[in-house]
Amino acid sequence: MTLEFRPECLLVTGGAGFIGSNFVRWVLTNDPHVVVVNLDLLTYAGNLESLADVVAEHGVAGDGRYFFLRADIRDVETLAALLNGAARETAPAGVRARTVPSPSAVVHMAAESHVDRSIMGPAIFVDTNIRGTLTLLEAIRAELVARPRDLRFVHVSTDEVYGTLAPDDPPFTERTPLAPNSPYSASKAGSDLLVRAYVETFQFPAMITRCSNNYGPYQFPEKLIPLMITRALRDETLPVYADGLNVRDWIHVEDHAAALWDVVRKGSVGSVYNVGGDSQMKNIDVVRLVLSTLGKPESLIRFVPDRPGHDRRYAVDISTIRQALGWRPSRSFDEGLRETIQWYCANEQWWNRVLTEAYRTAASMYLTR
Ligand code: NAD
Repeated sequence: MTLEFRPECLLVTGGAGFIGSNFVRWVLTNDPHVVVVNLDLLTYAGNLESLADVVAEHGVAGDGRYFFLRADIRDVETLAALLNGAARETAPAGVRARTVPSPSAVVHMAAESHVDRSIMGPAIFVDTNIRGTLTLLEAIRAELVARPRDLRFVHVSTDEVYGTLAPDDPPFTERTPLAPNSPYSASKAGSDLLVRAYVETFQFPAMITRCSNNYGPYQFPEKLIPLMITRALRDETLPVYADGLNVRDWIHVEDHAAALWDVVRKGSVGSVYNVGGDSQMKNIDVVRLVLSTLGKPESLIRFVPDRPGHDRRYAVDISTIRQALGWRPSRSFDEGLRETIQWYCANEQWWNRVLTEAYRTAASMYLTR
């Protein structure tokens, strides 16, 4: 029997984003012993308002297990200071800034993540996702040479690195060759390959996860499900690419969080784990389900010209993580979508502020420092 790895301090990069904020909350709620450091640059996708409850419960005025550091994964000096326990957290004016503990596990999810934006401007995707990952790998490698210790690194990737499937193809396995079709997925594939090379060349203690499409609370309303919910709630038209028959495998973000935590504690170094929800759905059926749940008419649907290079279908085979780590998704898509719609109905202030960009005001106390 192998002993579980139990990090005292977990570094999450990109912890103010959609998956990051849900993951930080999930870990602090489900493991009472761990300290979490959230390192995030706060780009347009990073929103500290998504963590207000976490700060209240686990920040300096709570049990003290949550730290925030506004920093760039491309900034090697800050990463070096953080890794050797010499960094101070980013605190609002008037709040005591604590020294950030040195992490023994890293879950790396800071990235540019939106396919449409990568088509409009690919360069930032290469810079953040590839150069940023390289900088982080190098900083950790240097730290482990200077102060050797047991550490785990989980690189959070996507099923999009595998490319696209025809309707009758079997789902992607971890052995499916990488064939990315968008600048986003190409940049993620590039970072995956760097992580792989670090394992092979430097015995770097990394694992890779490749997850399908996530949905749930706190998702930026540029992505399909929150876009459709927030537009339908305002009786606006719902833009659907092409014929709407593209298929995605949906997973609730908390199921993804549980999978990542299992990989940190029980995963074997050098392994790749596909993560998915076992819920393949056509985009048009997702949109119809949103409309029927909200009691809105299908006449709101507008078919729009397709996205260039639009992958037709994704589906992931999750038998490796099921068998090796005992993880499986806990929510059906119907149940998870209903909960998510209820969350957006109850949290209109959150998404209205995101849409009006007023949330940047809350972030500005950090940005001006
Ligand atoms: P997101 O866009 O909501 O969040 C990304 C976060 O990274 C933001 O908080 C942003 O401020 C931060 N960030 C960006 N550049 C940074 C930098 N240079 N330094 C530090 N922080 C930076 O993304 P998400 O949807 O939460 O996805 C998180 C990760 O999961 C990404 O790596 C993505 O590729 C992967 N992923 C996402 C999905 C999905 O369905 N959303 C599916 C599979 C994998």
